[in-house]
Amino acid sequence: MEKITAMRGPNLRCKGWRQEALLRLLENVLENGENQQELIVYASLGKAARNWPSYYAIVDALKNLEEDETLVIQSGKPIGIFKTHPFAPIVVMANCNIVGKWATSENFYDLQEKGLICWGGLTAGAWQYIGSQGVIQGTYEIFQTIARKYFNGSLKGRFILTAGLGGMGGAQPLAGVMAEAAILVVEVDEERINKRIDHGYLQKKTNSLDEALAWIDAAKEAGESVSVGLLGNASEIYPEILRRGIVPDIVSDQTAAHDLVYGYIPAGFTVEEAKQFRKMNPELLAKKSLESIATEVRAMLEFKNRGSIVFDNGNNIRSQAFQAGVENAFDIDIFTEAFLRPLFARAIGPFRWIALSGNPEDIRTIDQYILENFSHNEIASNWIKLANKYVPFEGLPARIGWFGHGERTELALAVNKMVKEGKLSGPIAFSRDHLDAGAMAHPNIMTERMKDGSDAISDWPLINAMLNCSSMADLVTIHSGGGGYAGYMTSAGVTIVADGTNEADLRLKYTLDNDTGIGVLRYADAGYEEALDEVEKKGIRRINTEDYSK
Ligand code: NAD
Repeated sequence: MEKITAMRGPNLRCKGWRQEALLRLLENVLENGENQQELIVYASLGKAARNWPSYYAIVDALKNLEEDETLVIQSGKPIGIFKTHPFAPIVVMANCNIVGKWATSENFYDLQEKGLICWGGLTAGAWQYIGSQGVIQGTYEIFQTIARKYFNGSLKGRFILTAGLGGMGGAQPLAGVMAEAAILVVEVDEERINKRIDHGYLQKKTNSLDEALAWIDAAKEAGESVSVGLLGNASEIYPEILRRGIVPDIVSDQTAAHDLVYGYIPAGFTVEEAKQFRKMNPELLAKKSLESIATEVRAMLEFKNRGSIVFDNGNNIRSQAFQAGVENAFDIDIFTEAFLRPLFARAIGPFRWIALSGNPEDIRTIDQYILENFSHNEIASNWIKLANKYVPFEGLPARIGWFGHGERTELALAVNKMVKEGKLSGPIAFSRDHLDAGAMAHPNIMTERMKDGSDAISDWPLINAMLNCSSMADLVTIHSGGGGYAGYMTSAGVTIVADGTNEADLRLKYTLDNDTGIGVLRYADAGYEEALDEVEKKGIRRINTEDYSK
């Protein structure tokens, strides 16, 4: 089969740019994905469409969709087209939502096997994935926060140990280098190591722990950054590093530990053997994965005892270890609560824009605009300079930038004006990660240890999605967890296309203001000072029921 890549250039296959944009974004997630043949984009099972007939039916529907119609998608399968109006979303989706009591991994695998459901991941099924770049600033901001909190502001001469070089984990080595550290990433699949080297995200590879540690030591000594991919299994390598008495400064893991069958590879298994066991004996594979994860997490806890800064980077590794009997697994912090919550409370999070023309110059023009007009925003201007220098494009040229309430709208409207005036070679699509202020309830990642105990309430992402529909976004989606995340999360995704029209001005303004607005209110409701401050400063219309109880 021919490899799918996103169409570039000015020609439309659809009846308007909004439909064409979504079609290119669908192609783009496959172009950037980990396993195109199986429509898998990242996180082991996160798919762009349910199956190939669904994919082709979506392509066909988008090509024929009128401006005043809405395509409905259920877990990666197109269901029908409805007459709506030109300001309605052109695509609405619900992916992998299973009623609470039934939302277990076993039921998910069963429904998947029957072809009734698929997991859309967060940005895979919503056609928003932009390669490893999507999480890179998040990982970088975590490292920078750790540097400020524990290492006098710099990771020069510091050693980061982590694992996993998949669709998301692949961002870790580059983020480590950008933070000036020496970073060692353990990965069991040589193909993934090679891919990150080819894409410019990883510098060196070896299958020898001795050699890897020698490179790390040399870089530490010289105060230079380096990224090393070590072919090996994290549940064997972490305990061995411990045994040698080495204490890394920072320890994490971004293997696909959330999925015991399709994600994590247990100690003693090759990638090929794990694939065979998936079919032959998934129960045994899951049991072995659980045991290996427990071993790895015990090592992570011991690193913590010995002084490393250890954190869970959003892969549910602690929940799995806890299930396997590691009672103190949750002594390891989750990155959101430990490092990023003050930003999320102001709705500052992973915003992104994608050049639908395929022209990298469009992204560079926007970079320049940000440097000239957002110099007061230290996070954004520091990031744009670094991204320009270090982050290679994958698929359609794109950029991620952590912007907050009001700033996203300001940037998007300026970009729409540039499209209108012909300063860019084509329209730009805006979206954000589902891991964003109002958009995700996940009691073991995004909303762990919320101040008011509202961790598991999924009203917020549902409200967020409905509000985005009311605000005229182009694509709105509601996802819940699949595979090992079944029952763990609900999230909402959104995409809006800056096609240079006056209508796009309205869509961008309402959607982006309201999307971040509800994010700030979610944190204000939970009592976060930063959010209450943002409400005051930005004039967000919050209703405080306490005013009525006096
Ligand atoms: P992926 O499936 O594309 O890659 C996982 C990688 O881990 C693979 O390359 C695999 O070979 C490797 N691996 C598996 N078991 C291993 C082991 N025992 N030792 C060493 N390597 C091993 O997944 P991904 O998209 O990279 O996501 C990784 C995890 O991060 C997932 O759990 C995902 O849900 C989570 N995630 C976190 C964030 C965030 O914001 N922090 C965002 C997205 C995804």
